[in-house]
Amino acid sequence: MKLIKTKAIFLAAGLIALPLSGCSQNAAENSNNDTTLTGNPKENPAAFTFKKDPVTVNAFKLDTFISISAYEDIDESYLYDTLALCDRYEEMFSMHKEGGALYNLNEGTTDKVPSELGRVMETALKWSQSSDGAFQISVGRVTELWDFTSGSHVIPSDNEIKSALKTVDDTKISLSPSDSEEGAAYTVSMPEGTKIDLGAVAKGYIADKLKEDLISRGITSAVINLGGNVLCVGDKNGDPFNIGIRKPFAGDTDMITVLKLKDCSAVSSGISERYFEENGRIYHHIINPRTGYPYENELWQSTVITKDSLTGDILSTLCYALGTDKALELAKNTPDTEVILVKDDLSLVTSDGANDLMK
Ligand code: AMP
Ligand code: MG
Repeated sequence: MKLIKTKAIFLAAGLIALPLSGCSQNAAENSNNDTTLTGNPKENPAAFTFKKDPVTVNAFKLDTFISISAYEDIDESYLYDTLALCDRYEEMFSMHKEGGALYNLNEGTTDKVPSELGRVMETALKWSQSSDGAFQISVGRVTELWDFTSGSHVIPSDNEIKSALKTVDDTKISLSPSDSEEGAAYTVSMPEGTKIDLGAVAKGYIADKLKEDLISRGITSAVINLGGNVLCVGDKNGDPFNIGIRKPFAGDTDMITVLKLKDCSAVSSGISERYFEENGRIYHHIINPRTGYPYENELWQSTVITKDSLTGDILSTLCYALGTDKALELAKNTPDTEVILVKDDLSLVTSDGANDLMK
């Protein structure tokens, strides 16, 4: 393994929820200090009233910057309760959290996983099957070699990659329900040495769960942003939310376009999220499971708009991996799915319905 000198770059992913004015993208600016705190009317959550300026909470979790903004007359602490769910799910879905459910599965210390993890894996495997090998959650041994989460940028040797690739094959993973054991609802069968990486999937599912939680507690107008994995709860007093798509390789607040969205998800994947440059080449975190090296195509970023964020997360990574033509085909053939692709010359290519969302 060769350690190289790199230009260290980490940017939060490519979507930003814009406040009403549409001009400020700064999380700190968003956290409205002038909010009148009226406490948490938990006994009658339906009594929340719309607030023009959102109540926002920010945190660094899931290895990224996250926020929830609610356009309701509530106390910040109400949102922290929802935010805290991220920790539980990170424990379950992270391949790096020692002792967590996915970690234990990958280490081979158990073949049982909780039902939520099992169901998310099933959904990811369904898309993997139709991806012709472009999207594979069994890519874990390879992504571990590239190790984009640690910030120490490394180009693995060809031999290391070849060896890791032998463990990558989603078709060899199978799940069966096993309701006999408490808390372990699926038994997973996969070849020894295989590691599952749900980095392309988990944030979407977690966003869906945060949304469920907010709704169950009476929040009807909010934006959840898990590092560019944006999920809208309802709308803004009848108006759509403004969701900015970040311009790749530009400043944190530079947008390439703005989407007007109600009650749906927008997720971006791209090479400017986690990458480093070496010898004029960009090495990024979306790996071609057939070669073990980062994809090299004409795209810098893909944004997918769907109803739920689990699907959006999977499809944004998959669309990036597929490249322009196949990504557009996928959007055309998948109900309630639009895609906005940013090419390496910063031109936009969009599915038919996406233009309506940019007006
Ligand atoms: P996202 O940011 O949702 O596009 O997901 C990127 C993450 O997915 C990477 O950081 C890896 O953890 C994982 N990953 C990389 N390449 C693939 C692939 N071809 N299929 C599935 N997951 C991948
Ligand atoms: Mg994804």
